[in-house]
Amino acid sequence: MHNLSERYHELCKRIAEDSIKQGEWLKEHTYTRMGGKADLYVTPDNYEGLQVVIDFARQHELPLTILGFGSNLIVKDGGIRGIVVNLNKLNKIERHGDQIIAQSGAAIIDVSRAAREHHLSGLEFACGIPGSVGGALYMNAGAYGGEIADVLESTLVLTPEGELVRLTKEQLELGYRRSNIGPKGYMVLEATFSLVPGEYDAIKAKMDELTFLRESKQPLEYPSCGSVFKRPPGHYAGQLIQESGLQGTRLGGAEVSTKHAGFIVNVDNATAGEYISLIRHVQKTVNERFGVELETEVRIIGEDE
Ligand SMILES: Cc1cc2nc3c(=O)[nH]c(=O)nc-3n(C[C@H](O)[C@H](O)[C@H](O)COP(=O)(O)OP(=O)(O)OC[C@H]3O[C@@H](n4cnc5c(N)ncnc54)[C@H](O)[C@@H]3O)c2cc1C
Repeated sequence: MHNLSERYHELCKRIAEDSIKQGEWLKEHTYTRMGGKADLYVTPDNYEGLQVVIDFARQHELPLTILGFGSNLIVKDGGIRGIVVNLNKLNKIERHGDQIIAQSGAAIIDVSRAAREHHLSGLEFACGIPGSVGGALYMNAGAYGGEIADVLESTLVLTPEGELVRLTKEQLELGYRRSNIGPKGYMVLEATFSLVPGEYDAIKAKMDELTFLRESKQPLEYPSCGSVFKRPPGHYAGQLIQESGLQGTRLGGAEVSTKHAGFIVNVDNATAGEYISLIRHVQKTVNERFGVELETEVRIIGEDE
């Protein structure tokens, strides 16, 4: 963007200045701690501000990229052109009977805790998934036998045409770590989860058990994007990687975790380039050894340096 500074000052006139940054490092906003700069990085704290940003992007033909908590994203070292919008400040969580309604920027972990506090069961599986509600819907996030599709009732989205639409979960075409949110260009604003009454102690015990399992199996001491690959039909990605002897393989600051083969960890200021090259190396090695193509679960976005 040639006149970045001009655009920045123009947008500052329309929404609160402290919600816009110019040339923001995205490594500050991704779980892998990698990624170049966003031309403009905007964090609106209300829907009116968000609408202003969307209109501004449209008016100036700037691409708009939505960032959740950055826990399933690799942003390339060249960063992202145009506007990156982060909805983290839109994070209200409310209970209505057996339903929990959460804005897209709420942490799905907080939503699962709110459900527990209201003695509502169904979201225990999500108690350790470090994403936002918007990111969790986009990915149909899941763990330990549960997934968003099991509990989602409906969602309020903004369409690329600027229409506010309520969609049922069926309309999102949720599948294994996928939805049609990306392909359709929807922006998730809110989600309604339908839960069932449960015993507080039983809900808490389940969440404690899953937290223990997660902490004992995952290399949470290092930055990562969680499981890099989807589970290939009939196999486990971690097992294939382990049996290919890839654990501990290092490329620059990126390493195939020795604790959980499905994770690639940033052990020493890895660049996105190094991390992505290691992903490709793992895919090639596993394919040569087992004839299985590993598909990435993590989303890779942005531009090369
Ligand atoms: C340590 C670790 C453990 C993990 N464990 C699990 C696990 O057990 N199960 C699991 O499923 N995942 C897991 N993940 C991956 C990740 O947490 C989930 O995929 C999560 O749902 C991503 O949410 P996010 O807000 O971080 O999304 P981001 O990574 O920020 O974005 C992911 C995609 O969602 C889109 N998006 C985000 N918000 C919106 C919105 N409001 N509207 C439209 N699109 C949006 C983005 O544009 C992007 O394409 C783990 C990750 C880590 C780092």
